[in-house]
Amino acid sequence: MDGKKNILTKKVVIILVKFIILGPPGTGKGTLADGLSKRLRLKHISTGDLLRTEVKNASSLGKKIENVLSKGELVSDNLIKDLLKKNLPINDFILDGYPRTLEQATDLEKINEIDYVINLQSISEIIIKRLSARRICLNCKSVYGSNILPIVRGVCDKCGGSLIRRADDSPKTIENRLITYKKQTEPLINYYKEKIINIDGNNTPEIVLGITLKELNDRGIEARA
Ligand code: ADP
Ligand code: ZN
Repeated sequence: MDGKKNILTKKVVIILVKFIILGPPGTGKGTLADGLSKRLRLKHISTGDLLRTEVKNASSLGKKIENVLSKGELVSDNLIKDLLKKNLPINDFILDGYPRTLEQATDLEKINEIDYVINLQSISEIIIKRLSARRICLNCKSVYGSNILPIVRGVCDKCGGSLIRRADDSPKTIENRLITYKKQTEPLINYYKEKIINIDGNNTPEIVLGITLKELNDRGIEARA
């Protein structure tokens, strides 16, 4: 009897989950996705990171992408679909930055079925402040801001890498990214209304992670560490 119980418990723990994290730029999607990926042992797929890696390669495709990113616009649905197909596991992932258009949502349906959509929201004053202050480590991608300052200015605490401002975190581009979000991505909240878990992002990363884990726990998804 006991043995049976154990097997059952195990089954509950080894749940296979597929998440999307949705929300305007600067709400902390990347930070939350990172926290969740560690606590739930999921792969964190950020299409923004995938694109920036292409840009670093300085290929002709990378140059084209760089130009789109610097304007705060979206790269084409087809380009991002190909990039996603190459990088999306079958299970246990959190998708950050995709889909961003209705077209991408229907593309994704053909590739994989999502269980939950975490909708992270913040007020725009906080978003603008956060993005303007954000610095990221060139090496390990750790994020710093006005609430988390590095010990040595411009140097990553974790790995010693250089901290830079993302090219698209300039005031003009931030404004455009917010407009792009409203126009092209916000309609997805309604599209996914049956799968949405609303999370208030106007708080510290630890609190936002805690609230999200609690919501997931209520749905039978438990943190493993
Ligand atoms: P943020 O969510 O803060 O804007 P990301 O790193 O997710 O940051 O994305 C940075 C940029 O990469 C976007 O402004 C957009 O130009 C491009 N991008 C990322 N994901 C997609 C996508 N799914 N479709 C089109 N463009 C994308
Ligand atoms: Zn670092």
